[in-house]
Amino acid sequence: MKEVILLKSGEIALKGLNRSSFEDIMIKNCRQALRGLGEFGFSKAQSTTFVTPVGEADVTQAVERLSRVFGIAALSRACVVEKDYNAIAQAAAQYLADQLQNARTFKVMAKRSDKKFAMNSPQICAELGGYLLERYPHLKVDVENPEVLVTVEVRDFGAYVHGRQLPGAGGIPVGSSGRALLLLSGGIDSPVAGVMMAKRGLTISAAHFYSPPYTSERALLKVKGLCAKMARYCGPITLHTVPFTEISEAIARECPEAFATIIMRRFMMQISERIAQSNDCSGLITGESVGQVASQTMASLTCTQAGLILPVIRPVVGMDKEEIIRVARKIDTFELSVQPYEDCCTVFTPKRPKTRPRLEEVIRAEVNLDYQALTSRAISDITSERVY
Ligand code: ATP
Ligand code: MG
Repeated sequence: MKEVILLKSGEIALKGLNRSSFEDIMIKNCRQALRGLGEFGFSKAQSTTFVTPVGEADVTQAVERLSRVFGIAALSRACVVEKDYNAIAQAAAQYLADQLQNARTFKVMAKRSDKKFAMNSPQICAELGGYLLERYPHLKVDVENPEVLVTVEVRDFGAYVHGRQLPGAGGIPVGSSGRALLLLSGGIDSPVAGVMMAKRGLTISAAHFYSPPYTSERALLKVKGLCAKMARYCGPITLHTVPFTEISEAIARECPEAFATIIMRRFMMQISERIAQSNDCSGLITGESVGQVASQTMASLTCTQAGLILPVIRPVVGMDKEEIIRVARKIDTFELSVQPYEDCCTVFTPKRPKTRPRLEEVIRAEVNLDYQALTSRAISDITSERVY
């Protein structure tokens, strides 16, 4: 049977005149997501995008991957039939045979956007409902809460039969809002923050600060693994790895211990801003959540963001850990995030960090550091790679 995947756009539909360019970005992202699964054709009609497998394409995998592409509100794997009632009825009985055999209740839903089709929607529902009851006598109709929702869409270029539609990832297409740089640690929060902003249309680049030999090669691999997990939603991610050992050691040596974390954070932010500016990123994203730890009190956030020009986006700022973990599980980064690893911040964590640092105090604590030289050296040793 000939199959197609129907993608229904959600928020994109509200975009008025820009809609077509949003859809084009979404289609480009779908193509990227389907790489390696075979050939697919794309066409748009009536607020639906049609993804047609050509030849031996893997449709099951394709549906799975498309369910993570932002900008799609819902998707259906459907069979394509001639616009003829008998053909539709036969296709429904065959195409959904497994589902119908294993269910107790069903309902038919019909949408006729081609008004030239001889039967109207209620007629299609009544006829097809009767036909399926004959073919599957164990079934009962349940209009309130059917186990199987047999859906028939009669459109301009054909009729489509499918079961219940699957929820899409929602949001707007990655790339439709520009690009931002995510400060990506190996923890739970920052991958969630990155994916949340990809959902708002930002292309994500990432910066990770690491301090070998205090942090291991494994910790770095873990961060690359997190990028790969995120890429299933965000598309390919350019990861910039910033050597942070010299800076961390200088801070440990030259600054009062209680300020170590906050000063490290300030360096990370400043360096990230420089990376962002030279890589076309219009903002920074962090996984900070108010009050979670000493370095994330309002006073600490004031100090870490002081002196920055770019906006700092903190999508998980108002979420509690349980809520963040729920998203981490959904996007499948949680298991990897909780694997033990050393972060450059945890290695140099003070025993009694300042929870309410004042900016003047912090600046005073930094006086012995050669800020320019340290940041320039770190920036000149950045390595960048693209993670798929
Ligand atoms: P996460 O789970 O994202 O690590 P966290 O709750 O452990 O967050 P912190 O370790 O205080 O919080 O880090 C706060 C934010 O600072 C992180 O969400 C991340 O955006 C950034 N950050 C921390 N460490 C690094 C690092 N080594 N490289 C890049 N960014 C980092
Ligand atoms: Mg962390």
